[in-house]
Amino acid sequence: MSLPQLPAPHHTWRFPVTALPKNNISKGESFEDIWDIMAWSSQQLLLGTMPRHGHDGQPFAEAWRNKHAGREIAHRCILAELRADWKCLAEVFGLPHWGAKTGICMRCSADLTNYKDFSENAPWMLERYGHWDFLQRQLNEARLISTIFRCPFFSTTCFKMDWLHIMDLGCAQDCLGNLFWYVLPRLGNNQKVQVATLFLEIKKFYRENSIQDCIGKLTLGMIKKPDKSKPKMNLRAAETRAMIPFAWKIADKMLDPQDVFESSIRWVIKYLVDCYDCLSALKWERNYFRECCFAFLRQYSVLETMADEGKWVMKPKFHMLAEIALKGDKPSDNWVYRYRDEEAGGTMARVAHAKGGPVNQWSISFRALNKFSAEFSVPHFD
Ligand SMILES: [Zn+2]
Repeated sequence: MSLPQLPAPHHTWRFPVTALPKNNISKGESFEDIWDIMAWSSQQLLLGTMPRHGHDGQPFAEAWRNKHAGREIAHRCILAELRADWKCLAEVFGLPHWGAKTGICMRCSADLTNYKDFSENAPWMLERYGHWDFLQRQLNEARLISTIFRCPFFSTTCFKMDWLHIMDLGCAQDCLGNLFWYVLPRLGNNQKVQVATLFLEIKKFYRENSIQDCIGKLTLGMIKKPDKSKPKMNLRAAETRAMIPFAWKIADKMLDPQDVFESSIRWVIKYLVDCYDCLSALKWERNYFRECCFAFLRQYSVLETMADEGKWVMKPKFHMLAEIALKGDKPSDNWVYRYRDEEAGGTMARVAHAKGGPVNQWSISFRALNKFSAEFSVPHFD
């Protein structure tokens, strides 16, 4: 949990709330129990008074809680944003999954039959879901309505889909992987030579442009995993971003603008570069960003129809790019947060790591929170 409105330097803190071993998670129950307590805490934080009853409405057993009951809390707080990747949003909060037959998105009616339609009149563009529409749909389909929605003012708009997971680690990597997979055969007589030649080109690009986030090696498996049919570059997020201008360089150099298929790839890469260009503070303009994202999506959708089976496949994640574009939040505003979140996740995994002893909810949570407060000088608020 982070409290970004705290005065510096506390605004960057990530506070663990609890920790539990994955094997002990009961699907649809463990997290719901935790959100129940979170919601109760959020309600009290908004009211500004210490609670008189437990989250279950029962009197407190602990004497210290009864002593503090009704006292004023110096701070007010609400849960304003919740950031997670799609897998977590689906598994933990019951939001639609990318393979769900009845709909893949909480903000619209997009499903597996129509999500590749990016025209202005696409069914999902015309049928948008607000918070209550979404909850009604969950009810109609007998799906989970997470207890997190009991947090005051918490609505579906508080779930943030982020550029890092959707683009840097998703669509952009699909795009790069497909491009490199397509040009490889032209770079040598065998795959080893082809990959080595491509890596030399990348290193030359790094040198000429003083790139910081460089890859130290390139293997065929980084472009397409041997057991997968769909290419996807395996890079860190920052490495992906640094690779985008190179993608245009190689596409411009190697693809024939007179050939219909290759021209289509060139446009996809060009629009991808445009999308990333929009993110800089100086160039940010919401409507232009939206135009660039939709140009990229439409072109990719066309390219898929021309491509071989399994290549240039438009996965449901591309729909989430459309949602980011429609929302119009500047993605780079969340980068710093996102990287801190990832870093905090790593720190928590380390402090919760058990070398021995019991592994259960209580022991792991107790150990993680104690070790965290022992290792870091946690600010104290009165
Ligand atoms: Zn949608």
